[in-house]
Amino acid sequence: MPKEVVVNPEISALIVIDMQKDFCYEDGALFVGDAAKDIIPRIKALIEEAIRKKVQLIFTQDWHSPDDEEFEVWGRHCIRDTRGAEIIDELFLKEAYVVKKQKYSAFFGTDLDAHLKEKGVGTLILVGVTTNICVLHTAIDASLRGYETIVPEDCVAALSDYGQEYGLRHIKSVLKGIITSSGNIGFSNLER
Ligand code: ZN
Repeated sequence: MPKEVVVNPEISALIVIDMQKDFCYEDGALFVGDAAKDIIPRIKALIEEAIRKKVQLIFTQDWHSPDDEEFEVWGRHCIRDTRGAEIIDELFLKEAYVVKKQKYSAFFGTDLDAHLKEKGVGTLILVGVTTNICVLHTAIDASLRGYETIVPEDCVAALSDYGQEYGLRHIKSVLKGIITSSGNIGFSNLER
């Protein structure tokens, strides 16, 4: 059973990782699959709850130059300033803080850590794609920096069942992150 987690909104951020058209739409350059479409409404609900509870909201965007070396592994995707790199219409909010990243981790070469520290954030809720690549690498870097990490497993998706299981298992057993479901995350700053 997924575990119930109560999160203090004053020190938390919801980080929506790479929910971009190239990954989440069927005509995208690196479509993750139906799993990426299935998580959209659940992430949307979590975003709405986060806004109600004044949780910091951050989107990350995979953002590559046209000849990025990463394309040797994955082919061309999320080239800066193209439609494929846009955050999907279902989730995009122009008032949200956006971190553009060139590598798997949202911390590498970005101002994410400084932004979170400035806002007093210590707990990260990670959602998006893909579980065993950009979500995992971001979770690893978060762990190295001392953040508590929570991953609702119904709000992350991978290219395969193996990738999904592998990513979640690593976050839980190696990083000591909390794996739960979006319905089991509550926001409260009251003493408990
Ligand atoms: Zn990429």
